[in-house]
Amino acid sequence: MSTLNSIEEKLTDAAGTISQRFLMLVQALSGIRGLTTLTMNKSDELDLLEDVLAVIKDNLDVECCSIFLLKDNKLTCVAFKNEESHREYSTPDTPLGHVFKIGEGIVGKAVVNKKLYHCRDCKADENYLAIINPQTENNSGSMICMPIMIGEELLGVLNLSHPEPYFFHQWQEHVVSIHANILAQMLYNHRLVKDMTTQVSNRTRELQISLAETESLKSKYKALSIIDDLTQINNRRYFFSEVPSALARSLRHGQPLSLLFIDLDHFKIINDTYGHENGDHVLKDVAEVLSQQSRKGDILSRMGGEEFALAVPNTELEGIQNLARRIKDAVSELRWTYEDVTFGITLSMGISQLKLVAASNHTSLNYVNDIVHVLVREADDALYQSKSNGRNQITFYHNLKEASDNT
Ligand code: GH3
Ligand code: MG
Ligand code: MG
Repeated sequence: MSTLNSIEEKLTDAAGTISQRFLMLVQALSGIRGLTTLTMNKSDELDLLEDVLAVIKDNLDVECCSIFLLKDNKLTCVAFKNEESHREYSTPDTPLGHVFKIGEGIVGKAVVNKKLYHCRDCKADENYLAIINPQTENNSGSMICMPIMIGEELLGVLNLSHPEPYFFHQWQEHVVSIHANILAQMLYNHRLVKDMTTQVSNRTRELQISLAETESLKSKYKALSIIDDLTQINNRRYFFSEVPSALARSLRHGQPLSLLFIDLDHFKIINDTYGHENGDHVLKDVAEVLSQQSRKGDILSRMGGEEFALAVPNTELEGIQNLARRIKDAVSELRWTYEDVTFGITLSMGISQLKLVAASNHTSLNYVNDIVHVLVREADDALYQSKSNGRNQITFYHNLKEASDNT
């Protein structure tokens, strides 16, 4: 009878143990579910590990759990959870506690062997190093250290401990392995996403820099393409892009527009006598005088060589005559010195003017370009006349025309 009773007692105990373990297993399974539902949007890896430990601690019956990360062949405890939910603010770069070498302590052994290390009784295990868990007063109890691995790559170690020796069973080893696998995948993905985010932001920054460089180069080249290198005034390209719109405006408002074509006299002799460099100085100084004499709204350009052009809108004939004379006088007053010889220069000028009776809305591009063409030819003809008549003079095209009309 007593034998039966004792068998019955044993059966009851066994059933109790089985149902308790079953409950623990179910709890462990919900821990796995908890891990898989953790969001990966934590920007800091250590915050993510903290969340992982919170789930493990809530669902596995352990006294404390910790994660060690591997960096430069050293293992650093970066996250730690016990009853007080204490967090170690340690990182692989700034370790606070003991840094384990590979092979040192049971954590180090798990890494060397690349497999789970089950320390059933810490006190009795010669590999156990008491500093692993200074929170446990007498460093007794049991511990499981499971390497966190992605393929063959080792990321760190997940550790669980309990104050009772021989507390963990085989099923818990399996559960910890699954947790470590999920954790490895999470860490790997988190690092991958972070790497990609860093790469994207670096690439974006590089692109922004090169975009800014391109913009500044674009505006530099745009400026260069309309500015004459030597004199720093606008060039022929600018003149022919701007004059048509100025002329269209003049046509619309019924205002005059004049073209002054200027060519330095015997400039070749200046170059030949005083050198090309002095010739350049002359060109720069003449351009300076022309800039000073022109007003806002005038279009001044170096057309090439020693030829300049000035388009002057909205100025009557008398104003143009005065301007032309001022320019001629100012240039002829310029002086340069070469080897004790002082020299000057004169210019010839040809002027054409758009004369209007009434404002016109007929400003189609072709019409405007045709008029520009005519005005340029007339100014050129007048300039040629100044040259033929002996240089150092100003010729107005309309005077030319009147002269030829009278003959
Ligand atoms: P004209 O009175 O008939 O205009 O005679 P010119 O000597 O001024 O005319 P020509 O067209 O024979 O000579 C122009 C000279 O201008 C020839 C060329 O070497 C010089 N020249 C053109 N561009 C530059 C330049 O950028 N710098 C210098 N120093 N000389 C230049
Ligand atoms: Mg010339
Ligand atoms: Mg000349």
